[in-house]
Amino acid sequence: MRLLRCWLIGILLAPGTGWAEWLHDQQDIMGTEVTVTVWHDQAAAGKEAIAAVMADMRRIDATYSPYIESSELARLNATAAQQPVPISAEFSYLIERSLHYSRLSGGAFDITFASLGWFYDYRGKKKPDAEQRKNLLPAINYKFLTLDPVRHTLAFAHPNVRIDLGGIAKGYAVDRAVEILRRYGITHASVSAGGDSRLLGDRRGRPWLIGIKNPRQRGADDREVVLTMPLSDVAVSTSGDYERFFIDEKTGERVHHIINPKTGRSADSVISVTILGPQGTDTDALSTTLFVLGVEQGLALLEGLPGFDAVIIDAAGKVHYSPGLQPPSP
Ligand code: AMP
Ligand code: MG
Repeated sequence: MRLLRCWLIGILLAPGTGWAEWLHDQQDIMGTEVTVTVWHDQAAAGKEAIAAVMADMRRIDATYSPYIESSELARLNATAAQQPVPISAEFSYLIERSLHYSRLSGGAFDITFASLGWFYDYRGKKKPDAEQRKNLLPAINYKFLTLDPVRHTLAFAHPNVRIDLGGIAKGYAVDRAVEILRRYGITHASVSAGGDSRLLGDRRGRPWLIGIKNPRQRGADDREVVLTMPLSDVAVSTSGDYERFFIDEKTGERVHHIINPKTGRSADSVISVTILGPQGTDTDALSTTLFVLGVEQGLALLEGLPGFDAVIIDAAGKVHYSPGLQPPSP
């Protein structure tokens, strides 16, 4: 009898067999760090939910990575200038959302930035040469994208167009993650893919703490946080010029991954933009958009979007807040 009791207690205490607890996993996917934290009454089901999220992130990467030759996006880039290419409903949705933000921002957000942007190599410290700029800058224009949202086809109306969903896909991925976690009955979770996070519920009675990193901390792998925001049930995306960059030794210029579609060069009026809003697909696209637009035009655009807020650090290091985040005047 005593033996049986010990055995039963062992089962109840064994990890992964019962007990509500916080579960956490972190993996390198989509060229970034994906982290998932959930609370679940059944640890085994919680682990299954996290595994399902990670599997979906891998699927999104395999489908939309421009670097994977077999991806749907890479194949589309190779042929859409010749004829309309059938795409999935999901792909069509991502293009449609991208075009929405292009129109809204007068082209500051433009997935055809890749026509020239493809020739930047941040690890190899290379940027496009003068010839490439001359030939490919005219191919950056979202108006060259012909989307048939009913038949789900996409065509390029210019021979040199390429697209890249790097400014919206991670935000979409964290939205999907929250949908998946909800299906598993989870009501408290935090998911992040690099600079894009989505919070489901709170931390069981306390808010989640989301930090904005110091964009100019020198020589640090793990940047210090300059501002911490207590948040729940929200999406948060940060775009920074410190994520993927190199310093051009000849000019001293910081060459980074957010491209101003008008010039084909790295946008340089701000150094960090954080957007808060209901969905990651939107906060991700908007963080990139506001990075290109800068403080004044960026905050003006946000005025027409209720439910979204921004924290912008300009090139001089000054922090700007959208009206919704400013403390009430005394
Ligand atoms: P994020 O870190 O969300 O701002 O996204 C940066 C990524 O967005 C880059 O690595 C590019 O893949 C992509 N991107 C860069 N410039 C633009 C732009 N002007 N419009 C849309 N996507 C862009
Ligand atoms: Mg973004």
